Amino acid sequence: MTPDFDVAIIGGGPAGSTAASYLAQAGLSVAVFESELFPRAHVGESLVPATTPVLEEIGVLGKIDAAGFPKKYGAAWSAAGTHDISGLNGFDHDFGAADVMFVERDQPGVDRDHTYHVDRAKFDLILLKHAEEQGAKVFSGVRVLKVDLDDPELVTVTCRLGGKQLDLTARMVVDASGRHTMLGKQLKLKVADPVFKQYALHTWFEGLDRQELAPSPEKADYIYVHFLPIKDTWVWQIPITDTITSVGVVTQKERFASAGSDRESFFWDFVASRPELFDAMKQAKQLRPLKTEGDYSYAMREICGDRFVLIGDAARFVDPIFSSGVSVALNSARLVCKDIIAAHKAGETFSRPAFANYERKLKRAVSYWYEFISIYYRLNVLFPIFVQDPRYRIDLLKMLQGDVYDEEEPEVLRTMREIVTGVENNPDHLWYPYLGTLRAPLAESKAERTQRRG
Ligand SMILES: Cc1cc2nc3c(=O)[nH]c(=O)nc-3n(C[C@H](O)[C@H](O)[C@H](O)COP(=O)(O)OP(=O)(O)OC[C@H]3O[C@@H](n4cnc5c(N)ncnc54)[C@H](O)[C@@H]3O)c2cc1C
Repeated sequence: MTPDFDVAIIGGGPAGSTAASYLAQAGLSVAVFESELFPRAHVGESLVPATTPVLEEIGVLGKIDAAGFPKKYGAAWSAAGTHDISGLNGFDHDFGAADVMFVERDQPGVDRDHTYHVDRAKFDLILLKHAEEQGAKVFSGVRVLKVDLDDPELVTVTCRLGGKQLDLTARMVVDASGRHTMLGKQLKLKVADPVFKQYALHTWFEGLDRQELAPSPEKADYIYVHFLPIKDTWVWQIPITDTITSVGVVTQKERFASAGSDRESFFWDFVASRPELFDAMKQAKQLRPLKTEGDYSYAMREICGDRFVLIGDAARFVDPIFSSGVSVALNSARLVCKDIIAAHKAGETFSRPAFANYERKLKRAVSYWYEFISIYYRLNVLFPIFVQDPRYRIDLLKMLQGDVYDEEEPEVLRTMREIVTGVENNPDHLWYPYLGTLRAPLAESKAERTQRRG
């Protein structure tokens, strides 16, 4: 039996629509099933520069440039106070505010000094329409209910269209269903993160004075991560338009549960721990009710198998502190499509070995992000310090640019890991009181592994 399509994609978010563009451009027949009608709101509004080469490669960058999204030139951290840590192991910076510009490091494949902050309703619509223009068949408002992988020749996708159920066939399926993790749930591949159980509350504000909160006017449109004087807790500030700003509080879920307050009070009580932020936000107008995102970190036991792959959030989700999500979505689509297109051209079947490059590269890149995030939550004061230190600034910037897909472990991770371990093992260390409570296991570098094995 001839399948209806070469590839069926579940989800028309950034991962699904990017994959659809790559595959359609390579001449494969592609169906995208998206349960919502776009435009639809979505969390995840600040991009990193590693998205640029992908957007360019699928030919959508010009449309993104023309959409008028605020340009993002850099990232900044602000702290509740400054602390003198002079004389410690050669670090003589405080860990108050710090910021960095992307242009300080040349990034392969990126010829511009900025990326964007995006209203995801508009951004995702541009990407999905683009995929359609490349030849993908987009089924909007169609939810995939299950995927039958038993037939060695094809997959059958059962979806719901209005009140009806419909079966369509393809040679393989790409799950890009985001945190719905459609196929991961069906195949029981999902493993909740043992340590990170975050909870986010977020909304948009009209008229938040970003200049007032910035150290200088040209930095007003950076992404800000405001540390709160509450362990493992931070606030994002992301420009959406000239006047609209997205603000979110991220903390541990158990704090919300134990606070016993409603969302609104919880949000404002937390923001109030930074009075200057609270004052600025109180003068602005809240545009939407608060939205929550909970318990979102997980991995999958497998990210591919015979006739299926998982990409974007459907493959893995790590904490959003470094704005990695959309970049992982786009780059996982890029990597997997190389494998799919190669197998298609070679006339091979879409069995698991065909996706080996994808599996290796994505797992490695996401493990770097996870390590970076683990270190952040173990000792977040290290980040502003590293940003200010010329020995580490550029290496750290490489991570912040999202440049993690084609390389060995970034050097800065090894250095940070050593420092954090040193602090954790020494209760007399002056940084000891600043240790966080979330202790995700740290990776071993190759050198450490070799040393341990003798
Ligand atoms: C609190 C928080 C803050 C974040 N901040 C950032 C940030 O600043 N920057 C950043 O880059 N990332 C951020 N992220 C991550 C970002 O939201 C995601 O990584 C990104 O949206 C992943 O894209 P995706 O295409 O994989 O999934 P999604 O964007 O979620 O798209 C999946 C699509 O699949 C559809 N779908 C789901 N199930 C089905 C089904 N059964 N049938 C058909 N369609 C289906 C959904 O409707 C959806 O449109 C944040 C995440 C959280 C939780």
